[in-house]
Amino acid sequence: MYCSKCGAQNADGSQFCNKCGAAMNAVSQSQPISDAFKLEIEEARHNERVGWVITIVGIAGLVIGGYMAINQAGTHNVSGAFSGIVIASIGTFVAIFGFIIAAVNNQKREKLIKKLK
Ligand SMILES: [Zn+2]
Repeated sequence: MYCSKCGAQNADGSQFCNKCGAAMNAVSQSQPISDAFKLEIEEARHNERVGWVITIVGIAGLVIGGYMAINQAGTHNVSGAFSGIVIASIGTFVAIFGFIIAAVNNQKREKLIKKLK
């Protein structure tokens, strides 16, 4: 069975969600959720996670590139500083891209879970 609040999978007959602690909804117990619906929620959750990973990678690129730019600028290495700025810029775009994926899938999952109520 699935938590009606966060969509986490719980053992059948659970009183409370093992993830968010919400009381398991009696309605969702008496109305079995279709496999396709479960799969949709799982997919949205997975894509949201992927989005966050991409965001973290992008932020890492931003930090590394930013550090490189400052470091190289300090030693008057113009091309090195420029490379750092390019890496930081790419990192920023990647982070924004990942964040959008995560946000879109978070909304999608929330909408799906709302339908369970
Ligand atoms: Zn839950």
